[in-house]
Amino acid sequence: MIIGSHVSFGEEQLYGSLKEAISYNANALMFYTGAPQNTVRKPIDNVLLEKAISLAKDNNISFDNIVCHAPYIINLASKAIPEKWDFSINFLIEELNRCEKLGVNKIVVHPGSSVGITQEEGIKNIVEAFKIILSKTNNVTILVETMAGKGNECGRNIDQMAEIVNKVNDPRLCVCVDTCHINDAGYSVNSFDEYLNEFDQKIGIDKIKCIHLNDSKNELGSHKDRHENIGFGTIGFNALYNVLINEKLKSVPKILETPYIEINEKTKIPPYKEEIEMLKTGVFNKDVFK
Ligand code: FE
Ligand code: FE
Ligand code: ZN
Repeated sequence: MIIGSHVSFGEEQLYGSLKEAISYNANALMFYTGAPQNTVRKPIDNVLLEKAISLAKDNNISFDNIVCHAPYIINLASKAIPEKWDFSINFLIEELNRCEKLGVNKIVVHPGSSVGITQEEGIKNIVEAFKIILSKTNNVTILVETMAGKGNECGRNIDQMAEIVNKVNDPRLCVCVDTCHINDAGYSVNSFDEYLNEFDQKIGIDKIKCIHLNDSKNELGSHKDRHENIGFGTIGFNALYNVLINEKLKSVPKILETPYIEINEKTKIPPYKEEIEMLKTGVFNKDVFK
């Protein structure tokens, strides 16, 4: 079982991220190299990186199970402001280089929103952007994430994902499947095998290199994208547990991006230690946060 959560990347960089993941008894993790909503980034500190490498080793955490997430303000689908599209591309090239320096070989990227253009045009822009980014980088694999289809989001169904992945046609362009997003896009996680079959026919199951394991606050097909804690949403514990233990995705890291728990007006605590515990044992406890 390869399971972890989103963790922070603060002053102590990847070393701090690893410490946080270990405190949740995780053997995988995902981090943003800075605030997810902006593109301000600090240089990688080599001393901290050395400490991170030995901490990972001591705790049997493989760097294959460490995933980066690009900031979500990046939009590869829209060329409405050409400088912004260029900026997104150049920023992602730098992100891939930062990952390479950290020894992290996967970065999740949202496909983007086709603002003021058709979805087909948006997808054309995304394909072009990924081709440029891949031609100017080495080693790090981009995982394009399945989206809920909120607003003009591209990547809202398997056909759009296939269009992107098959047109880019590069071993370094793979997919991250988010269970909340596919639910909100209209695919039932309760019939995940059906989803996987269609995915396999149109894209290839081997392209799935990360799973974002989230419950959803909203109904199937709502196109909302609001994550819920495992077992507390519309998808439910059993369906998510079945994704986790699916034999076909055994070697794929599962990452929780569920919301923090509000214990009072001022304090929110991460739910990950408890959620990982429940998922490891396969037993849901509705009172786990009480
Ligand atoms: Fe994401
Ligand atoms: Fe996600
Ligand atoms: Zn989401």
